[in-house]
Amino acid sequence: MDLETSIRSLKLAEQYSGMVYAALGIHPWNVNAVTEDEFQQTIELVSEKRQNKALIAIGEIGLDHKYVEIWDKQLMVFNEMLRLAEKLDLPVIIHSRGTTEQIVEMLPSYNLKKVLLHWFSNPISVLSKVVENGYYITEGPPTVYSNGIREVARRIPLTNLLTETDGPIRFFKQPFDGKKTTPAFIPTVVKAIAEIKKVDATLVAEQIKKNFEAFFGVKLN
Ligand SMILES: [Zn+2]
Repeated sequence: MDLETSIRSLKLAEQYSGMVYAALGIHPWNVNAVTEDEFQQTIELVSEKRQNKALIAIGEIGLDHKYVEIWDKQLMVFNEMLRLAEKLDLPVIIHSRGTTEQIVEMLPSYNLKKVLLHWFSNPISVLSKVVENGYYITEGPPTVYSNGIREVARRIPLTNLLTETDGPIRFFKQPFDGKKTTPAFIPTVVKAIAEIKKVDATLVAEQIKKNFEAFFGVKLN
């Protein structure tokens, strides 16, 4: 996510109003390539479009431990994005590979109403804090085959869980078979959650829809 993809996402959401919604921001992987000008323009774009119904969150933003060489810039951009979310009262979608514990410690110093940690994987010990703080997590295709993710799905209350495709990436494990991730994978993810939680898949689907509406403040058809 950067300025260009923020603009494209918003256009797509406007074109498919009520079906596609946009989250805008600067992803930690992009912080190095983003110029000061693009950074300011991204902030302006989000601020200007705040009342646009197609824009429902700031994200993905966050910190990624794999990119230590740009750590300071990651921290600076993440902080600015969180301040923006605070100011505009928008939910945040957070990428926290290897940094979940640190981020969960940081967040209470911001006045954020809605926090979502996408693809929450570890450490599982942070999960109780996540729930206590009223944060949400998302899980996607790995819910079907990853023991670690299945354990997270087992422990997280259904009221704090949303599904995701992630992407654009391919999942090589079965049953996804190297196909590029699309929303068509979601029923399989919902079914896996239902099995893990030993409840009906319809109930899972309904609760996730409710969670989506509550988190992003939109009403789905
Ligand atoms: Zn991510």
